Amino acid sequence: MKIKFLGGARTVTGSCFLVNTGSHRILVDCGMYQGLDADKINLKPFDFNPTEIECLFLTHSHLDHIGLVPRLVNEGFRGKIITTAAAADIAELILYDSAHIQESDTEWYNRKAMRTGVELREPLYTRKDVDRVLPLIHRKHYGSIEELCDGIRYRFVDAGHILGSATLELWCRNGAEEKKFVFSGDIGKKENPIVNNPVFVEETDYLTIESTYGNRNHKGFNESVEELVTAIRETFRRGGNVIIPSFALGRTQDLLFILNKLVKEDKLFRINVYFDSPLGEGITRIYEAHEDYFDEEAKALFNTESRDAIRIHFTSGIEDSMKLNRIKKEAIIIASSGMCEGGRIKHHLKHNLWRKESSIVFVGYQAAGTLGRQIVDGARMVEVLGENIVVRARIHTLGGFSAHADQTELLNWIAQFKKPPEIFIVHGEEKASYDFQKVIDARFGYKTHVPARGEEFDL
Ligand SMILES: [Zn+2]
Repeated sequence: MKIKFLGGARTVTGSCFLVNTGSHRILVDCGMYQGLDADKINLKPFDFNPTEIECLFLTHSHLDHIGLVPRLVNEGFRGKIITTAAAADIAELILYDSAHIQESDTEWYNRKAMRTGVELREPLYTRKDVDRVLPLIHRKHYGSIEELCDGIRYRFVDAGHILGSATLELWCRNGAEEKKFVFSGDIGKKENPIVNNPVFVEETDYLTIESTYGNRNHKGFNESVEELVTAIRETFRRGGNVIIPSFALGRTQDLLFILNKLVKEDKLFRINVYFDSPLGEGITRIYEAHEDYFDEEAKALFNTESRDAIRIHFTSGIEDSMKLNRIKKEAIIIASSGMCEGGRIKHHLKHNLWRKESSIVFVGYQAAGTLGRQIVDGARMVEVLGENIVVRARIHTLGGFSAHADQTELLNWIAQFKKPPEIFIVHGEEKASYDFQKVIDARFGYKTHVPARGEEFDL
C-alpha cells in the first residue's frame, strides 16, 4: 500500500492525499491552493490519473479542502464523492461561489489582455462544471462503519471544526493484510460554538494530522469574547460602528451565535447586526437546517422562543449593501472577505476606517501582504478601492476565535491512541509542522514524517 501527499503538505492550503491499496485508489480532499502563485499551482496537471480514482472523501467544505473538485471531474473523475450531509450542502454553495469568482476574474483579466495583446485565459472552472459535481455526491452520517467496496470500509467521526466537518477512518485490506488510516481533517477546539467537540480516535496504523497551530496555543476564547463585548460597548458609546471582516463559512456563524448568546445573557443590549454577504447568508441557512449537527448548548439556544435575540439584517443586492454606508452609529457590520482583500468589506472600511468613533474588529488570521494585515500592523494610511484612507478607527485583534485546535489540543488528540501510530504531519506552514514534529517526538516518541508536496510512502 502507498500514501501520497499531493497538497496541504508543508503548507496550509490545497489539501489532497491519495491512498493506493494496490487494487483501489482513494483520494481524501481535493482543495484549492491559496496564496502566492495560486493561479499557476491550481492549474498544474494532477499528479495522478483522475479516471482511476474510485472515491473522493471530503473532510469538510472549506475551499482549501474542496476547491479543485470541479477540475477533478472535468478531467475524468467519475467515482463517488462521500461526505456528511451538512458538508455536502455547504460545498454546493462554496463551489458555485468559487466558480463565479473564477469566471468573473477571468473575464476581467481577458478584457485587459485583449487591450494589451497577450494571450487570453480560460477560467479554472465554471458553474456548469459544478453542475456535474453534484450528482456524484453521497451523504453519510457520523459514526457508522460503511463498506465502500470489497476490502475497504470507512467511518466519519465529528471533527468539531465547522458544521459537518469530519475525521475519516479508513480500513484497507489487501489480501490477508488490513491496514487502518486516519485522516484528521481540520480538528476543532473544544470551545467552538455550535458544533460538538472533536471525537477522539483510539487506534490506527497511520495517522495524517493537521498542524495549523502545531507550534502555538490560542489566546483564551472567553478572554476574546470579553474583549468583543468591551469593543462593542465602547464603540457604541463613542457613536460609531463596529466593522468585522470575516469569511462567509464558519467564523461568521460562530460570531452570530456568540452575539446572540451575549444578548440573552444581558452582556449586550439588543443589537443590530448587518450581515453583508449573500454567500454567508446562504451558509447560515444551511446551518439552521442542520440542527442535528449542533451541540447541546446550540440546540437549547436554537429552540427557545427568543432564539433571535439580535436583529440580523441580511443584505442581498448591492443597493442594500450601499444603504449601510448611511448608518453612522450602533451597527455591527459583518462582511467578507476575512482578510479585507476583496468583497463588500472594502466599502465598509472606506466609510468607517477614517472615523475615530468606529472600530474594526479582526477575528481571524491576517496573512502577510493583505490589507487586513496592514491595518493590524498599525498602518496610518491605507489604500481602499483606489482611495487613500486615514486609519483613525480603533483596531482590535481577537485571537481566541480560531476554529482549529491549538498545539495542546492537538497533542491531547494524539494522546488518545492506545498503540503508537505512524504519523504524517500535514496542513501547517513548514515551520509549524516541523515544530509540531519535535513536540510529538519529545512527548510520545512516535515515528513521524513531514511529507513534502508530491512525496509518496510505501507502507
Ligand atoms: Zn477548515
